[in-house]
Amino acid sequence: MLSYTDARLKVIQVAEGRQGELIRETIELRKGLGRVLAEDVTADRDYPPFDRATRDGFAVRSADICGASTTVQVIGESKAGTPFNGAVGRGQGVQIMTGAGVPAGADAVVMLEHTRATNGDVVIERNIRAGENVVPSGSEAKAGQVVLRRGTRLGYAELAMAAQVGQTNVQVYRRPRVAVLSTGDEVVAIERPPGPFEIRNSNGVSLEAQAQLAGAQPVPLGNAPDRADELRALIERGLLEDILVLSGGVSAGKYDLVEGVLRDLGAEFFFDAIAIRPGRPAVFCARGNTLIFGLPGNPVSTMVTFELLAVPAIDIRGGLAARPLPLFKAKLARPVTQKAVLTHFLPARVSWPEGEPVVEELPWQGSGDIAAVAQANCFLVVPETRLNLAAGDWVEVLPRRGVF
Ligand code: AMP
Ligand code: MG
Repeated sequence: MLSYTDARLKVIQVAEGRQGELIRETIELRKGLGRVLAEDVTADRDYPPFDRATRDGFAVRSADICGASTTVQVIGESKAGTPFNGAVGRGQGVQIMTGAGVPAGADAVVMLEHTRATNGDVVIERNIRAGENVVPSGSEAKAGQVVLRRGTRLGYAELAMAAQVGQTNVQVYRRPRVAVLSTGDEVVAIERPPGPFEIRNSNGVSLEAQAQLAGAQPVPLGNAPDRADELRALIERGLLEDILVLSGGVSAGKYDLVEGVLRDLGAEFFFDAIAIRPGRPAVFCARGNTLIFGLPGNPVSTMVTFELLAVPAIDIRGGLAARPLPLFKAKLARPVTQKAVLTHFLPARVSWPEGEPVVEELPWQGSGDIAAVAQANCFLVVPETRLNLAAGDWVEVLPRRGVF
């Protein structure tokens, strides 16, 4: 059986091989958070556009300052937005504020804290090197230089960068569309009261949310009953999108029809199980350029397998390079033992009681236990190569996207 890391590599390889033409759209910069740039963004002028002071103090000629106390004649001021128009000569200085232009002649800024005022003049109390506390014009970016590359996800710093160079609109890739289809005769829409043996379609809600968190546009298709004809019609609808995610109907039960219907529709299968718990029966296949994930229906399995498998596909379909899993290490609070030779993803909480990350497994009733995941801020990874973990061991944790 494939390890989850090999399964992810397979998804990435197939997604890259079946990438259609990416559709572009132009949007307001302010609406761009999380979107992926479809164009390079370039600097409209040099940055900084002038030699910029990084401290409040005095702009001086560094060559004039020698030793611990040099008196300088103050000939004016340069404030942010309003420069000093003259030039600084020998033995002279200009009072300057953070963000202001360094006047001609000066080549360094002495911090206010290293100066002392004496009747109109100022005494500089420290030596200073040329260039100190000055960011030279053009040193951050030259006019015309690419400051953001196509294929970059717009986070807050990227948005600030685009704003700085005057980009009020940006060209981005259309969000990948992810059809979400749950299956099962027992599953009812959340708006309806369930019968005694029915359950509400919580997977539809969590999958749409996970798709959104990953940067996709969810396309809710509701629920298909365990009947091949109706399931087939809804799957055909889902095949019109970039990605189709199904939940349920992929195990070995008599009414697990998803794989058979997908085969009848001509899907090419890449795997139908991975060595993890929860989530072992996860299916990955494709038809044409549509990537298809048949995720097991137990809610925790659905959540874990979406994060492991579908997120990299969304990245690639969205014009990004697939992001690595954001795993980090934490110290185990209590021992953990698992029997099945599979990599386990256990609902857990990480905290920092004394500065170090400490993780503890939460009590749970297995892969149907949504309540446990709702209490968790991460999944504790128990690798199949080390099923017995002791208190104090450093273990990997996978933060829960959106709440961590
Ligand atoms: P399945 O993978 O179809 O065998 O379903 C496994 C378990 O997950 C069963 O207990 C189902 O009732 C439950 N389940 C399936 N689909 C959903 C859904 N959309 N929302 C919540 N639970 C589900
Ligand atoms: Mg089912």
